[in-house]
Amino acid sequence: MPKHFNTIKRYLSVHEKRQRATEFNEFCDSFETVDVDAFVKKEIFDETIILKCLNCGFQEEVDYDIISECWDESESDYPESYCMKCNKPKVVPLDVYNKIKHIK
Ligand SMILES: [Zn+2]
Repeated sequence: MPKHFNTIKRYLSVHEKRQRATEFNEFCDSFETVDVDAFVKKEIFDETIILKCLNCGFQEEVDYDIISECWDESESDYPESYCMKCNKPKVVPLDVYNKIKHIK
């Protein structure tokens, strides 16, 4: 868990896990298949993050995987990206946005 902002973890239900494992097995027949029952017993969650643009206020929720992949934690406290609405490099995690804008 990053220090300077929060992410949203949503745990999958048994039904969703079963569905995901079954789908995986259907699509990835060249790889090893997943043991569906073992998969269902594990805790699986989706992790997302809410990003907000400091320039125009555009807000979106994205997969945290995508963000963490292109963010170098040693170089900055939080990821920054380009806004798909106003094209400025001003998109930051919502917690960082609130801190900068002094919103509690
Ligand atoms: Zn923007």
